[in-house]
Amino acid sequence: MIRVARVRSDSIAEEIGILPGTELLTVNGRVLDDFLDWEFLTAEEAIDVEARLPGGEAVIYEIEREDGEPLGVELEPPTVRRCANRCEFCFVEGLPKGLRRPLYIRDDDYRLSFAYGNFATLSNLKEKDFLRIEEYRLSPLYVSVHATNHEARRTLLNNPRVPDVMEQLRRLAAAGIQMHCQMVIVPSLNDGDVLEESLRDLYSLGASAITAAVVPVGLTQFSHLYTGKRMDQPTALALLEHVERWGNKALSERGERWVFGSDELYLLAGRELPAPEHYGDFPQIENGIGAVTALRMRVAEGLSELPRLDGKRIGVVTGTAMASIMPPLLQQIEKATGARFELIVAENSLFGVTTSVAGLLAGADIRRVLQPRTDLDFALIPADSINESSLFLDDDSLDAVSRFVPMPLYPSYDFADVLTDLSGSPETRMHLNSAATHAA
Ligand code: SF4
Repeated sequence: MIRVARVRSDSIAEEIGILPGTELLTVNGRVLDDFLDWEFLTAEEAIDVEARLPGGEAVIYEIEREDGEPLGVELEPPTVRRCANRCEFCFVEGLPKGLRRPLYIRDDDYRLSFAYGNFATLSNLKEKDFLRIEEYRLSPLYVSVHATNHEARRTLLNNPRVPDVMEQLRRLAAAGIQMHCQMVIVPSLNDGDVLEESLRDLYSLGASAITAAVVPVGLTQFSHLYTGKRMDQPTALALLEHVERWGNKALSERGERWVFGSDELYLLAGRELPAPEHYGDFPQIENGIGAVTALRMRVAEGLSELPRLDGKRIGVVTGTAMASIMPPLLQQIEKATGARFELIVAENSLFGVTTSVAGLLAGADIRRVLQPRTDLDFALIPADSINESSLFLDDDSLDAVSRFVPMPLYPSYDFADVLTDLSGSPETRMHLNSAATHAA
């Protein structure tokens, strides 16, 4: 059973009387377990939907619609399938206490992997889950492989009941399911020969393993389970050797690089990040693979659109990871706009100084670095440090931080998204000011 959260106006659902709170029970006689069933079973043009209205009345809707016409139903969020592993490097285990509750959910859910690109280990898959993946052709999936060596994977996931991932991946591949894979590397556990074996195994899956990513373990000062070694520069360089050797092999044999190191891996290794063509269509950008290169590209492409902002002083807040990346970008933007940009690097007070990415900065960090800066006309902050409700990870709101600091704040992904609007009318500026305090 699934429940309706909202009904869009002027939709089929509104017309036939589906209400928020309606329980959707079956489609064409098939019982609905979750949003996937609804999504796939309602793809037909003619469907019979058994439902129960919020008052308890049983109804059957006979619906016919044009091909592709949406029904207009938004479902309540699904119950997330929880993780049965206990990885020492788990980011959730590395969260400080007292954050909002959803942040502590350790999801390991193939459905969210398909729908949103969340990585899943597949270690909790049952036979009926495989059958659903195969029937609905849930592809591509995002899989946290970490190691194809069974013993190494059991250790990494800290779960003695973990199934053999290669058996799982081969079955999915045989069913035509494609996978984006990642290996989070814990030094001495799944680097070296174990990584070599993983890359060899995944490569043997052919086009089914679309990409593989190698990501260094990321820890916070609260990663209390972790007993492994810390990632260091020699290890990062050694990891890149595997990545580049297999990437070159894939490029010459298949025409695509296939395996990628994360941006953080290049930064740890002290190596220059690859050029855009290295990443193809940036298949794992959400996983921090090529994000810096993509930002450089977007900045370069947007320069000609930027307005003149002569005389303005603009603060740009970022995390320590970007401290060495940003200056050349800001120089280009200064040249294009005439404004003076000042890089303001904030350490992470919530997770500790080892957490360097800009997107994990807390509201308190933004307050701390901007509060004394009365000399700035406005400041740009990382747009991905706030969620869709404009809340930072420490539950500080953009609204509250904006009121606290002495300049307007604009969440920005790539500078141009904010700066191009600043040349607009006073109304546009007011809109931006409103966006600065009310939207992500
Ligand atoms: S698979 Fe490991 S890292 Fe992922 S949520 Fe579970 S315990 Fe955490």
